[in-house]
Amino acid sequence: GYTRTCGLMGNPVEHTMSPLIHNTLAKKLCHNLVYIPFHVEQGKEADAVKGAFALNFLGLNVTVPYKSKVMDSLTEIDELAEKIGAVNTLVRTPNGFKGYNTDMLGLYRAMCSEGIQIEGEDVILLGAGGAARAVAFLCASKNAARVYLLNRSKDKAEAVAKEVNEKSGRDCIYPMALDDYRSLPDKKFLAVQATSVGLYPDADRAVIEDEEFYRKIHTGYDLIYRPCETKFMALTKKQRGSAFHGLKMLLYQGIIAYELWNKLSVSEEMALEVYCMLQEKMEIN
Ligand code: NDP
Repeated sequence: GYTRTCGLMGNPVEHTMSPLIHNTLAKKLCHNLVYIPFHVEQGKEADAVKGAFALNFLGLNVTVPYKSKVMDSLTEIDELAEKIGAVNTLVRTPNGFKGYNTDMLGLYRAMCSEGIQIEGEDVILLGAGGAARAVAFLCASKNAARVYLLNRSKDKAEAVAKEVNEKSGRDCIYPMALDDYRSLPDKKFLAVQATSVGLYPDADRAVIEDEEFYRKIHTGYDLIYRPCETKFMALTKKQRGSAFHGLKMLLYQGIIAYELWNKLSVSEEMALEVYCMLQEKMEIN
């Protein structure tokens, strides 16, 4: 057959690692497929989706700021993505694209591969933005016991908690103001860092810097992967917790997209080979 095209639409797309993930997979699996980043101007997202379909694209990834906006241009949306209210992967069907959210599925697969459990856990979730919303849905759907959702603006925490509690049918999300972390129960938590604080070039900051807070964490998962050791991770480790960055989440959201586009499953061994390449690329940059 001829060369199939997949790509990423977003703005900006300059620093994306997704081409490395997909072009490496295509090469290793001997698929005639290329993956290209596309810079799309604001307001042109519907045209971009339509154009990609007309050009017979196999699929697209969608990144900031279009993860919610593209939903109007799809013929079908996966149930989970619909609940989250964001799609990052479009899969070709005969009549149009179907939208999925592989960010969340990717986080789950990344956590499983690190041996991190959600079911029955008490979770601290830092942030109430797009990524935190998806993590809150993941925790609710994977039967976390309680999720304390802490955010700088408390009304946003309350809005996300209310929505996730309603849509998941589980009253497990408890919203709190970030500054109220001292009133968290005195026990050990799984903590997920989903704010943008600590992201390069802001690498010497953590959303909570009080070392006492980190004594409550047995496992800290930071969604940020640039830098690959965040201050949140360093503070967690200092109090003897285990700490992880978000690079595996990025890896698996890509792997799952590739699986959906090509209707196959990528072996764990292959996934880890691609992960090594990602790590090397991170070290060079
Ligand atoms: P949003 O912009 O939607 O949300 C940002 C969040 O950070 C909000 O909760 C905001 O709080 C909080 N925040 C920002 N600045 C501060 C500050 N100075 N003090 C306290 N809180 C602050 O971002 P996203 O949800 O899209 O992304 C969050 C992070 O997750 C990013 O760093 C991103 O790189 C990472 N990410 C990683 C992925 C991966 O594959 N590993 C995938 C997706 C995201 P407030 O509401 O009060 O403003």
